Amino acid sequence: MVSRVIPVDPFDLVIFGGTGDLARRKILPGLFRRFRAGTMPEESRIIGSARSEHTDEEYRQIVSDAIAEFGGDEKDDKTNLDAFLGRLHYVRVDAAGDEGWEDLSALMRDGVIRAFYFSVGPSLFGALAERLHRHGVADDDSRIVVEKPFGRDLASARELNETLRSHFDEHQIYRIDHYLGKETVQNLMAIRFGNVLFEPLWNNHYIDHIQITVAETVGVEGRGAYYDKSGAMRDMVQNHLMQLLCLIAMEPPAMYEADAVRDEKLKVIRALQPVDYHHLVRGQYDQGTEGEPGYREDAGDPRSFTESFVALRCHINNWRWAGVPFYLRTGKKLKARTSEIAVVFQDLGHSIFEGDEKRHRNILVIRLQPNEGIDLQVTIKEPGPGGMRLIDVPLDMTFADALGPEAEDVPDAYERLIMDVFRGNQTLFMRGDEVEAAWAWTDPIIAGWEARGDVPKLYEPGTAGPDDSAMLLHRDNRRWRDIKA
Ligand code: NAD
Repeated sequence: MVSRVIPVDPFDLVIFGGTGDLARRKILPGLFRRFRAGTMPEESRIIGSARSEHTDEEYRQIVSDAIAEFGGDEKDDKTNLDAFLGRLHYVRVDAAGDEGWEDLSALMRDGVIRAFYFSVGPSLFGALAERLHRHGVADDDSRIVVEKPFGRDLASARELNETLRSHFDEHQIYRIDHYLGKETVQNLMAIRFGNVLFEPLWNNHYIDHIQITVAETVGVEGRGAYYDKSGAMRDMVQNHLMQLLCLIAMEPPAMYEADAVRDEKLKVIRALQPVDYHHLVRGQYDQGTEGEPGYREDAGDPRSFTESFVALRCHINNWRWAGVPFYLRTGKKLKARTSEIAVVFQDLGHSIFEGDEKRHRNILVIRLQPNEGIDLQVTIKEPGPGGMRLIDVPLDMTFADALGPEAEDVPDAYERLIMDVFRGNQTLFMRGDEVEAAWAWTDPIIAGWEARGDVPKLYEPGTAGPDDSAMLLHRDNRRWRDIKA
């Protein structure tokens, strides 16, 4: 397939934490895929960096092993792999000390974009920003890429923003939320603003409610100690679900441009009503029926009150959305791995078909995983003789089916976002004020739980979460969509 991707200028990308899990699992295999697709200019380099001592050759072996473990079919393309590995270097740098910075500085080139990926724990973000500046490694056009978690509350997010901004301008700071890099998420904007069909209906006159579900089948095994300090609200709702909510609910930006889009998202977050205690459900997965460890065993704390599940109902206080509930839920160890946004339109006000008692409604489902695609439920006549019987059927557009082989070459979220850093395109990255506004909404919810000593409801692994979650919608005479793969 001929690549239609906009080329980027040559770059030097330094990955701090270049030997870590995220770098090996996502960043480096993703960069290799872009290299193969011809989007990474040949003269670009990737410089891995961490505290341990490695030669360039040793680092190339680490990356080669990572691609073999985490890459797709492309790992068998030895010719390109060798060429890609030839673009790699390694420098030992202590992010929190002063060792290695001179070596790194000496390696940087003029005339190419310098980007620095902070793939290290958040406690090192400030130290890295300060040293990049002090040792003259970064220039005015350099970009830094920062991973979640971006703070753990409003105060820490503000502090982090202030630290980063004391060394870099906002236009140099790329806060990654990989959900925004997903093809379907961008398609959400294409659907809304590229079709005449939906936007006139996109309001409280026609939409009954919206459901956003991000369900995982895995528990917190392996990262229990980290997760236990966080919980589903901080780890998922404040960032990923909030970003999806913004894109669904925002007003049309005047143009598809970074600040125009981010201004509209910010307005949504600021218009969010505080969530009432009765519209919040917290859950924690229990032990499995076969004796599989429950959340507390996985987290290593038999008294942990951290939630692995959240469901909530929220409202956006503006003209478009007045009276339309947004139901959000996310959890671990649920019955299927699925992420979707369902826009549930109102029932038909009046049916001309006598005897048709059923409630017919259109539902637009935007599926993020699995099988990224879009599904529109419409009502049609049941085929065959015997009068007008109506049935609801999905008009399914799974991208892999609709677009054929071209869909297979779509870059994954990390690849796309990293390339956007070199293109200088911040549209799909969170701005500092958005992150702070999201914390300002989340903080009182968490503080309320803490003040009440709230104990999360246990739920059986492999289910849709605690019963209270179903009740949240039943009380409103609605129901969650089934969680299915
Ligand atoms: P990791 O522990 O596997 O890797 C951390 C890396 O940082 C290692 O290469 C380590 O050598 C390096 N490092 C540690 N201290 C250092 C120092 N003082 N100086 C220089 N290098 C140092 O962690 P990870 O899972 O790769 O996560 C990295 C960041 O990305 C974290 O902020 C994490 O929250 C975030 N993140 C990770 C994932 C994931 O899938 N792993 C997903 C989303 C966000």
